[in-house]
Amino acid sequence: MANHRDEAEKKQGLAGPRRAFLQVLAGAGAGAAAAGVGLSVLESQKAEAAEIPPPLAESSGAVLIRMQQDLERALTSGRTPSWVMVVDTRKCVGCDACTVACKAEVPTGPGGFNRRVIQKELPIGPRPYRVFKPVNCLQCDDPPCAKAVPAGMIRKRADGIVEFDSVSLAGGYALAAAKACPWGLIHIDRGATYTMNTPAPQPYETRAFEEYGRTFRRGPQNYELQDRARKCTFCAHRLERGELPACVTTCLGSAMYFGDISDRSSLVYQITQGRRIFRGHENLGVKPRVIYFEESMPGAVHVDCQACHSR
Ligand code: SF4
Ligand code: SF4
Repeated sequence: MANHRDEAEKKQGLAGPRRAFLQVLAGAGAGAAAAGVGLSVLESQKAEAAEIPPPLAESSGAVLIRMQQDLERALTSGRTPSWVMVVDTRKCVGCDACTVACKAEVPTGPGGFNRRVIQKELPIGPRPYRVFKPVNCLQCDDPPCAKAVPAGMIRKRADGIVEFDSVSLAGGYALAAAKACPWGLIHIDRGATYTMNTPAPQPYETRAFEEYGRTFRRGPQNYELQDRARKCTFCAHRLERGELPACVTTCLGSAMYFGDISDRSSLVYQITQGRRIFRGHENLGVKPRVIYFEESMPGAVHVDCQACHSR
């Protein structure tokens, strides 16, 4: 049965060859994926599914329970997990609850964000079309930030997380790392708090928090992360105690999925099979671990994030 996309492709004279091409790619992607493990699975998944699957229909609670089970299996399997985050922007409502949850989990002070939600109005289709896109450090497998500073200051962990040395990555090195991130996902922590110039600095800002296995406390004196480079850690401290990242557990739209992509029974493995995904500026070869589902754009033939993102 002809669908919206068939009609659109026919208008462009693309339906026959383009559809056949996509179907061949879909088959090739699925076969190659079955032979791979870990993030390499995704390398084979240019896997352009001919159709964009609908958003996951399960309730937020059911998805969270599934991911929690995946996490517990990953932590008790005896092998090193390969963490990824998958984002379905169709389910993001732009509420910024994840941004708030992130700040509550790891205080970052005024102007500093480990997680933001970008809003973009796209000039396609008959009506304005707005995309909400949650963004945080992509945990690149070949991170440009690490190449900008002396070896050891930024470390790629076996589980995929890019870890900063909170002591040495300071001053000029912190600035160099921030400048090297192509997406501006590193900020410099100036040590300020939102309530520092009020009569009563609030405990939620000065409470202890964890980052890379150490405990910190914001405050006017001896704040060890002052002038340090900071970014999302995939909530590594939470993962270690068997908890999903704060943004994932808070998401009102159930727009984010997290887990071990090397586990074929995990949700993140299964929902990325044979479908169109976008990993952001892949021409740079950085191999990001935050994966976005491609979505249908109303009135557009090309359901391709690369329409706006350069290759
Ligand atoms: S997204 Fe930016 S900060 Fe994160 S690993 Fe890649 S280059 Fe580094
Ligand atoms: S909490 Fe979920 S729905 Fe709300 S902005 Fe963040 S990703 Fe989008």
